[in-house]
Amino acid sequence: MANHLFDAIRAAATPEAVFIETAEGRRWTYGDMIRFSGQMAGALQALGVQPGDRVAVQVEKSPEALMLYLACLRAGAVYLPLNPAYTLAELDYFIGDAEPRLIVVDPRAREGVAGIAAAYGCTVETLDATGGGSLLQRAGGEAADFADAERGPDDLAAILYTSGTTGRSKGAMLTHDNLLSNALTLRDHWRFTSADRLIHALPIFHTHGLFVASNVTLLAGASMYLLPKFDADEALRLMENATVMMGVPTFYVRLAQHPGLTRAATAGMRLFVSGSAPLLAETHRAFSQKTGHAILERYGMTETNMNTSNPYDGDRVAGTVGFPLPGVSLQVTEPETGRPLPDGETGMIEVKGPNVFKGYWRMPEKTAAEFRANGFFITGDLGKIDERGYVHIVGRGKDLVISGGYNIYPKEVESEIDGMPGVVESAVIGVPHPDFGEGVTAVVVQAKGSMLDEKAVLEGLKDRLARYKQPKRVLFVDDLPRNTMGKVQKNVLRQTYADLYKA
Ligand code: ATP
Ligand code: MG
Repeated sequence: MANHLFDAIRAAATPEAVFIETAEGRRWTYGDMIRFSGQMAGALQALGVQPGDRVAVQVEKSPEALMLYLACLRAGAVYLPLNPAYTLAELDYFIGDAEPRLIVVDPRAREGVAGIAAAYGCTVETLDATGGGSLLQRAGGEAADFADAERGPDDLAAILYTSGTTGRSKGAMLTHDNLLSNALTLRDHWRFTSADRLIHALPIFHTHGLFVASNVTLLAGASMYLLPKFDADEALRLMENATVMMGVPTFYVRLAQHPGLTRAATAGMRLFVSGSAPLLAETHRAFSQKTGHAILERYGMTETNMNTSNPYDGDRVAGTVGFPLPGVSLQVTEPETGRPLPDGETGMIEVKGPNVFKGYWRMPEKTAAEFRANGFFITGDLGKIDERGYVHIVGRGKDLVISGGYNIYPKEVESEIDGMPGVVESAVIGVPHPDFGEGVTAVVVQAKGSMLDEKAVLEGLKDRLARYKQPKRVLFVDDLPRNTMGKVQKNVLRQTYADLYKA
């Protein structure tokens, strides 16, 4: 036995090849990465981190932070990244839940975290975004006597908390093989080679930026431009030398609005990938009109890594997430019974394969409830498979609106509203209603200078949707609430309008 995931990463590495470049011109080769992650892994061991121990990391995005992830793998620890935006109260929940051996934070956060660390008996070390901090001082000396910890395919590599879009975040336990098998599949499916240069502007505490973007790049021996966050000007500048970009839909919305987005500006790029939230067909269209590139949309989640992808060759169909990836079984079922539904019918999306996680950390009952007896994981997403085999995500089960006994899929109503002149985007939610159980409620963002009102929207929907699907109220806002991954927080909207239909 050896170190399952890191051995594969090392096998793909050419020491002289560039691994990371930053906007300030900092640069690491693969040889640097192997040396540096080994030193950090040695420091972790010297701090008493044993195989299987959790290491919680709440730091800004940086090359060193990414190498700390690799160091955790090498030391056999379970990597546990946390969003730097979490407050101390939130951190307290995650640390109490995960009970890590060690917490790594920005030096400025050290004092604040001390109380939490003391309460749960963990050590604190620091790491900042420019390569400073106590952990790296320790890493300096420990290089020589480090040996990678033995880790097999079924050992835990990471616990990743879900985004908390539908409720409290849950810790998803991911094994070395969950991560390795999925990253190899994506590498081959998207034709990654050592000649690729990725624009990496995603956060690295989330499955998208950590396991999709980073692991795929590492397993191809490719290089990445690491940006602390997305900036359209900077992304366009990097496209002169890059070959691939991975992003959330908001990146593409901003690029499509940028006057610099042209065929010439993207001529050297071979692939644009989108995921984590639905990409509007409109954005897909605008982007391809301006560049000639069809954005490749894929679908995944913290618990399952990536499930589906549009084809590399062949039609990348807007509004779909493509086909199940090789090795992934996907079925659509009747939510109550788990009975598979015929293609074309909308139901619960379930998946099975080496990509699917081991379970929720310290939630055996919740884990058991989310798996069928035949091993399929119930994603919580509703969708259907069309006649060509493309998977469509219709929305989340928790966002389904039940009004007057009818099921209403918000996306169907949103698509109609989004198609109206003057509408930028919309979110349709169910709000408690004395007569209907839930009232269909539309929250709309309109373009600057547009003069839409409730009456006009309702009028526009009259002949387009069955009566029970039509909103009872239409409300206008400047922006929809979103989390860091660009996901619309419908639970926030539901809270905001909870009393709308109260007498
Ligand atoms: P929580 O589970 O805590 O409520 P979350 O589901 O948003 O949060 P993630 O694991 O980050 O946490 O997100 C996975 C979800 O994102 C999927 O279940 C799906 O609803 C959505 N998603 C991902 N990719 C796409 C896509 N291409 N189109 C539509 N939805 C997507
Ligand atoms: Mg989820």
